Amino acid sequence: MGRYLWLLLLPLFLFGSSVKPFKWNNGESFLRFLEHKKLPLALFYSLDKEDQQLTEDIPFTANCQMLVSDKKIIQQILIPVNDELQLQIYLTSKKRYKIHVIPIVAEMYHEVLYTEIQTVPYDDILKATGSTRLASRFVKMFKGRVNFKKDIKPGDPLVIVYEQKYRLGKYFSMPEVAGAMIEIGGKRYAVYKHTDGRYYDAKGAQFEKFLFKLPIRNARMTSGFTKRRYHPVLHRYRAHVGVDFGARPGTQILATGEGRVCFCGYSNGYGNTIKIRHANGLVSLYAHQKGFKKGIHNGSKVKQGEMIGFVGSTGLSSGPHLHFGMYDGSTPINPMSVMKKKTEGFTGKEYRQFVAIRTKLDKIFKEKLRTKPVKRKAFDFQNTYYVDKDTFKVKAF
Ligand SMILES: [Zn+2]
Repeated sequence: MGRYLWLLLLPLFLFGSSVKPFKWNNGESFLRFLEHKKLPLALFYSLDKEDQQLTEDIPFTANCQMLVSDKKIIQQILIPVNDELQLQIYLTSKKRYKIHVIPIVAEMYHEVLYTEIQTVPYDDILKATGSTRLASRFVKMFKGRVNFKKDIKPGDPLVIVYEQKYRLGKYFSMPEVAGAMIEIGGKRYAVYKHTDGRYYDAKGAQFEKFLFKLPIRNARMTSGFTKRRYHPVLHRYRAHVGVDFGARPGTQILATGEGRVCFCGYSNGYGNTIKIRHANGLVSLYAHQKGFKKGIHNGSKVKQGEMIGFVGSTGLSSGPHLHFGMYDGSTPINPMSVMKKKTEGFTGKEYRQFVAIRTKLDKIFKEKLRTKPVKRKAFDFQNTYYVDKDTFKVKAF
């Protein structure tokens, strides 16, 4: 308890100290980072395997912050690893550096946007909300289904039902869209998020086309994707930004989709690793491999289902398995949310669940089309701030 108290009191003693924001240097390993900042490398080794591996997934867009005293001594560094967790390096009162994984404080709100088209959806959503992320999410959702350039006319209404995180009154992280609709010349196009996290049209047909397939035959998932999980035994926050498939060493690893190999090599955490960039911009990752298929190299073109390597236990791995990741830019997403689904269309209980979701969203759409509410505007959150671990209160400098 007490060891974090000083963090809370820190601002009071910080006359002469300064906060320096910086971006995570893409491609720099955590060890190199510590070296550059003249911090003890032991900090990295004090982390356990899972957290060490996590340092390889620090997004290159991560907004980090460093607190430096007037004597140029680093007091604290915050490095977000995703939108839920951050690494905190800090100097204790005994002048020793420590490192912890702590949560990022944000509040989640349910929001609804109603707006009318004046130019194009992207610009109008941005104008109404100030959120580039919501605007691009909306456009991405309807891409291929609705021709925004051709068919749309001024005055056409759109509604988005979503969850948005805020930090200190500003948008933080990606909005989670529950459902959205746009009316074009009186014809309605709507999408609904089902319990499986995927989007469907009113008839229950899959809206987004995902062509990815599992990277292992007869795959058995041993660990799922989570951005933040509290470990009740270890009393710490963990993240696992991919899925693990248990398999015997030497099991064939298959490319999840067509693409071009953009990394084929060794990394400390992930061991022998291949990354493949796909046509839709997503990048898939295959870690801990025993070895690569002969001839696979940086720049290789691969087809879906093509064998690329073999299951192993290289890097920070506790046993033979495939760690499989999927990235949108440098942000890890749940790979299972973009895998091709075996069945088409809902039946039975699943159908009833979908109808309930659709009915609820349709009600919201109808009400907003009638009341035409005006949206409160905010701005995207840029900086990271200091967090007290016990109270989870944010201290801004
Ligand atoms: Zn894993």
